[in-house]
Amino acid sequence: MQMKIAVSGCLLGQKVRFDSGHKRDDFVMDELSQYAEYISFCPENMAFSNPRPSIRLVKNADESLKVESNKTGADLSDALSEASKKDLDNIATHDLRAIIFKSKSPTCGIGSAKVYLENGFAAGKDDGVFVAMCKEKFPLLPMEEEGRLCDAWLRENFVMQLFSYDSFEKFKLGATMNNLVEFHRINKFMLQSKDESLYRELGKVVGNHEKKSFIEILGEYEFLFKTAIAKKSSKGKTRNVLEHMAGFLKNFLDSEEKAMLHEQIDDFAAQITPLILPLSTLKLYANKYKVNYLLEQTFISPYPKELALRSDVKSVK
Ligand code: SF4
Repeated sequence: MQMKIAVSGCLLGQKVRFDSGHKRDDFVMDELSQYAEYISFCPENMAFSNPRPSIRLVKNADESLKVESNKTGADLSDALSEASKKDLDNIATHDLRAIIFKSKSPTCGIGSAKVYLENGFAAGKDDGVFVAMCKEKFPLLPMEEEGRLCDAWLRENFVMQLFSYDSFEKFKLGATMNNLVEFHRINKFMLQSKDESLYRELGKVVGNHEKKSFIEILGEYEFLFKTAIAKKSSKGKTRNVLEHMAGFLKNFLDSEEKAMLHEQIDDFAAQITPLILPLSTLKLYANKYKVNYLLEQTFISPYPKELALRSDVKSVK
């Protein structure tokens, strides 16, 4: 069964924008769509249909936000809030793996919706009305904007989070203490590439020295795992992981092979070559010398290789 992802309708090519246009997104429609079923939403279209006057967020004297029509100045907060609740209820009926929003929208922008003062001056940026509701309802669910997904590093991080989240949800269905230990083991390097200290905390949860019930352990593990995969990787963290993986091969490689592998890791960290190069070399040697511990790691292949996100030197920062 494909993953379900809720997506702003305009990104799916639906003509729901204020001007009856759309903002079809190529990555969403042509690449990620191979692996996901999309659930669309558009609170503005539900509330005001189209075409409609555009709207904006305005800061009240008490710092709260309201929604105003750009044409008439009418307060449309209640109508948009009501439609957003309906869309929220609808997407919540699905077992979602992520939400992808349209950037800069007063409804769908994640921290990118412009906010104005009553006098028309700019007052920074904030979450759109629907985004604020989604964050409250699904605090651990992967969420991203299409604008940010144009950045190779943010795209790679989001896709890894998405597939890792999905892997946990599938794992959870038949989870036992034994396979939790196994799940943690195969996710070691993926988690370390995100957050070393959360990886260690997760290890303590699995160790269960306080003899908690499995339900309690699984709940704690889920919270920390989903928090860890939401963190962004960095050149430094990924380099440490690659060096650590190379350590598992040191007894098999001659000095020339070791030097070549370390050069590839250095070149990756210097953003001369993409991550796929040292990873392919590690995989080649792990296969040759049957180092199953490495081959089983989700970090080797956290999402379908066809997405080719690790082939871009800009996919790290
Ligand atoms: S940004 Fe959100 S509210 Fe605006 S047209 Fe797209 S889906 Fe609808």
